[in-house]
Amino acid sequence: MTAGRVAVVGAGTMGHGIAYAAALAGFEVRLTDSQPEALRRVMARLDELLTNAVRRGKLTEENRDATAARLRAEADFAAAVLDAEVVIEAVREHLGTKQQVFAEVERTAPAGALLATNTSSLSVAAIAATVQDPGRVLGMHFFNPVHAMKLVEVVTHPKTTSRSVERAVTFARALGKEPIVVKDSPGFASSRLGVALGLEAMRMLEEGVASAEDIDKAMELGYNHPMGPLKLTDLVGLDVRLAIAEYLHQTLKEPQFEPPQILRDKVAKGELGKKSGKGFYNWSG
Ligand code: NAD
Repeated sequence: MTAGRVAVVGAGTMGHGIAYAAALAGFEVRLTDSQPEALRRVMARLDELLTNAVRRGKLTEENRDATAARLRAEADFAAAVLDAEVVIEAVREHLGTKQQVFAEVERTAPAGALLATNTSSLSVAAIAATVQDPGRVLGMHFFNPVHAMKLVEVVTHPKTTSRSVERAVTFARALGKEPIVVKDSPGFASSRLGVALGLEAMRMLEEGVASAEDIDKAMELGYNHPMGPLKLTDLVGLDVRLAIAEYLHQTLKEPQFEPPQILRDKVAKGELGKKSGKGFYNWSG
């Protein structure tokens, strides 16, 4: 794909990371958000990312200036998506909000634009249902922090065309990412597998099979995982993991997704992982 115009709707944690990756790859990026405050904040965050990249020797000053020139915050939604080849939605994880955004994108973006949602758990088919031409809608599930994480899950629903899948795969590669193609099903590939491993590790801890450190080491040293499942849960947040486990248990109805008591107890006590100072590990001090 020759670098064209990308619109990112939602300038929060994920939106700014996706915009940054696209601008680095040579795309002209327009970022829009319903909150003017979010748009003000995002330009400062992007500037910080660029400054850090220069300091770490990842970017020359010349490249930094060229990348910064390709990034623009645009409060007017229609102007942001007007001539986009790819529109990526990264607004809050709420079906109604995403459906509204897609209906508006369809009214204002070019008819040939690829429309992607960065949802981490919602049904892509349900999001696409509000659009007249659902064939050009799919999921592009990026990971946080976007500039450091290689994976993009390209999530297809029954009406996604093969041309759209090809375009999404090509676009992800142009951003230096490694795409995988996954059917629209709860937890896609990454959360379904990752959460299953994390919950099993918690059950082993509950049963006293080994300490948290040793369970993590089993995966780190025995399977070459960069980080064990309990430490990873501490970084993601135990409350976030509990919500995903409950959702997967309800939708997939498989016993391995039933949240273990130790997870419920820790969340009830406010032990949410690194962000609260304690989870399966002690992070304070
Ligand atoms: P966030 O809260 O940081 O940012 C969301 C932004 O969307 C906010 O700036 C908000 O003002 C804006 N917004 C809300 N409604 C809008 C609307 N109608 N039009 C335009 N902008 C609107 O959220 P986030 O963490 O960046 O998550 C965004 C999406 O990415 C969610 O679907 C989430 O599930 C998914 N996701 C998040 C992560 C993560 O680690 N944070 C990872 C992968 C995917």
